[in-house]
Amino acid sequence: MHHATPLISTIVVGLVLAFILAAIGNRFRISPLVGYLLAGVLIGPFTPGFVADQRLANDLAEIGVILLMFGVGLHFTLDDLLSVRAVAVPGAVVQIASATLLGMGLAYLLGWSLVAGLVFGLALSVASTVVLLRAMQERRLIETERGRIAVGWLVVEDLVVILALVMIPAMAGALQGSETTGISALAVPLLITFGKVGAFVALMLIVGKRLIPLLLHYVAHSGSRELFRLAVLAIALGVALGASTLFEVSFALGAFFAGMILSESELSQRAAQETLPLRDAFAVLFFVSVGMLFDPLILWREPFAVLATVLIIVFGKSVAAYFIVRLFGYPKSHALTISASLAQIGEFSFILAGLGVTLSLLPERGRDLVLAGAIISILLNPLLFAWLDRYLPKPKPAGPVNIPQPAGDPESEEGSSAPLPATKLSNHVVLVGYGRVGRIVAEGLKQANKPLLLIEAIRPAAVLARDAGIESIHGNAADPEVANAANLVNARCMIVAIPDAFEGGQIVAAARTANPNLLIIARSHSDEETEHLKKHGANIVIMGEQEIATAMLANLSNAAI
Ligand code: AMP
Repeated sequence: MHHATPLISTIVVGLVLAFILAAIGNRFRISPLVGYLLAGVLIGPFTPGFVADQRLANDLAEIGVILLMFGVGLHFTLDDLLSVRAVAVPGAVVQIASATLLGMGLAYLLGWSLVAGLVFGLALSVASTVVLLRAMQERRLIETERGRIAVGWLVVEDLVVILALVMIPAMAGALQGSETTGISALAVPLLITFGKVGAFVALMLIVGKRLIPLLLHYVAHSGSRELFRLAVLAIALGVALGASTLFEVSFALGAFFAGMILSESELSQRAAQETLPLRDAFAVLFFVSVGMLFDPLILWREPFAVLATVLIIVFGKSVAAYFIVRLFGYPKSHALTISASLAQIGEFSFILAGLGVTLSLLPERGRDLVLAGAIISILLNPLLFAWLDRYLPKPKPAGPVNIPQPAGDPESEEGSSAPLPATKLSNHVVLVGYGRVGRIVAEGLKQANKPLLLIEAIRPAAVLARDAGIESIHGNAADPEVANAANLVNARCMIVAIPDAFEGGQIVAAARTANPNLLIIARSHSDEETEHLKKHGANIVIMGEQEIATAMLANLSNAAI
């Protein structure tokens, strides 16, 4: 029999189990993260049965972190980052300091040394990128002011971790008397680290900023989708690896900068789309790999220490973050969202705790507590958000934004949590997608003075349409709430101008159920897709390729060839 390699079995068993458990969770309205973590526990070394390769799982998880941070960078410009520095820098520093002190207090009670307390406290103070971004993405908060503050905060935390990772070995050296004096033992590596981070950022902003978009433009013009996809991946992963090997900057920060540089180029949306499927798959593996580290018996062995650790992470950190954000004059909703998103720990904490144990600064028990704290706080995080959704004045967790015409600031902060107002249009045409096809259709309808409502999934495109005077809803047309807001019941026609026929089928089917008399025109690329769309209720399906061929032939006959 052919045996699967550890890499294949880790990926396959991890993904399959994560899928099964998340699907079960979905039935009971439990966050999929819980399913992913549980899948990790099941294939981890502390439960019987199949044990996946932990080292491989960690590496796979790291790819997830890189792609996620790259994706965030794509939505972020340098100006965004600088615009939140006033709150993000002091916020992250004060929060890390207070969480570290709380951790040191607990370490003192447990009878550990001061340095052990410091490493433990630091590990409890830094939030997980993946968990924070997942929570923000689920609620479409990344592009809001709250989201920007949280991501800026995360970047500062990331920088602090980089410094800590340099300081901890130096501290160990100083403690073990292998270095000359305490101060120089710490100052020299710190200066070198600052220099390296500075050199990396400068290189990215001066050279990368010109070279990377140039490279992508070149590839985009080659017309090969495959090559473009590969170029995006190569840039994200290549910059991350280069940043970590040459400049000792974390993978996550390297990828974030690569994305941020691209965000100023118009190709960024396409680049973001290309990494989506891979990003989601690897983010799942991240949670599986965290689950694998968890030894459920620790709950039995040290219930109070675990409880205290969790309380520090979930309450200690969030209370500090809440007051800092409020101190800067932001509303309660900002402070609560940011506190909730930071009330967990993850990958950075494992790295810090692991280093502490390797250098004999932190007892093994400390790492176990960090792991237990991480997994429990990640499990609790969706609950915190659910509570928040209920508590905040407008209790709509996530959702599309109606971009009215012409009022309403598309960049406005609370748009994403406001209930979606229904359009006042009736007897109108609902157009889905404002891309290469949708734009032309919209222009034609506008010229003909037909009442038009657009649904577009990407915010910049929706904003562009609004600026062109088209009433637009920013959201996914497959989302029932968006369909409701589009007043399909009273619409005359729907034009589905998106390239994905599978998603198109869902949209068509939902529209057909809402309005049996609606004229639905959809877009396809093959006979199978045409059939699929018709089966779901489309009246007319236009196959792009067929139209291109027809137009070509018409041109030939016009030219009398
Ligand atoms: P193109 O392929 O250039 O015509 O672009 C298609 C457009 O449709 C893009 O702007 C997408 O953001 C948009 N789009 C794709 N899927 C959806 C969806 N489910 N709901 C709304 N807009 C979508």
